[in-house]
Amino acid sequence: MEKAVIDMKDVHKSYGIGEHQVNVLKGVSITVEQGEFVAILGPSGSGKTTLMNLIGLIDTIDSGYYFIDGLNIQDQSEKSYATIRNEKIGFIFQKFNLISKYTALYNVALPLLLRGESYKDARLKAAKTLERVGLEERMHHRPNQLSGGQQQRVAIARALVGDCPLILADEPTGALDQKTGSEVLAFFQELNAEGKTIVMITHDVKIAEKAKRVILVEDGLICEENRQLSNVLLK
Ligand code: ADP
Ligand code: MG
Repeated sequence: MEKAVIDMKDVHKSYGIGEHQVNVLKGVSITVEQGEFVAILGPSGSGKTTLMNLIGLIDTIDSGYYFIDGLNIQDQSEKSYATIRNEKIGFIFQKFNLISKYTALYNVALPLLLRGESYKDARLKAAKTLERVGLEERMHHRPNQLSGGQQQRVAIARALVGDCPLILADEPTGALDQKTGSEVLAFFQELNAEGKTIVMITHDVKIAEKAKRVILVEDGLICEENRQLSNVLLK
């Protein structure tokens, strides 16, 4: 068996207390092996963002267990989450989440600088990664000098630069026009073909179809898991 990048078992998550408590995730189990390209698909309100926040160590699980790349999250203090995130996960968000006052180059170098790499090394790797996403001529531009598609490519470069075992993308094409969105998805397929593990959250079946496997979330539960999306859609 391949090594699991995500191994989550019977995870529960609720918000609020007492009668105001909302049980958002009601026992979710997910395994993602190294080298997979998985879409987590579900309607609005089904718990996708909550799940993404748990996978991405932005929030903590209430119960169950979660191993990321072999590391048991329960054994880690919340203080160490930022370090684990930096080492294990490259994030891609719907709205890019670039730092507007920094150039593309510096935005991409940042995860390496946070890791303690020298400015020289970080800059070199960032420039190479921007080249990889086709933005070598834009590396000294700030986000507001770039198109949406270019900004998302900067964000993809930032997610790639640290060579993390997991790329986690939340509605990565949600703020892009259809053509640019298709380009981003084609690039994900290319990265996956090179061995990158990608988990992509989406509410759109057409986008989920681009992944190799689809996990369907409904009302806080995994209701279907299928290698073939057509099987899901036929039900
Ligand atoms: P999705 O991303 O699939 O639209 P979410 O994970 O954002 O779903 O939300 C799932 C459910 O959990 C929704 O009913 C939402 O109102 C509720 N929820 C999410 N976050 C909170 C929170 N911080 N406090 C209370 N309820 C929340
Ligand atoms: Mg959401």
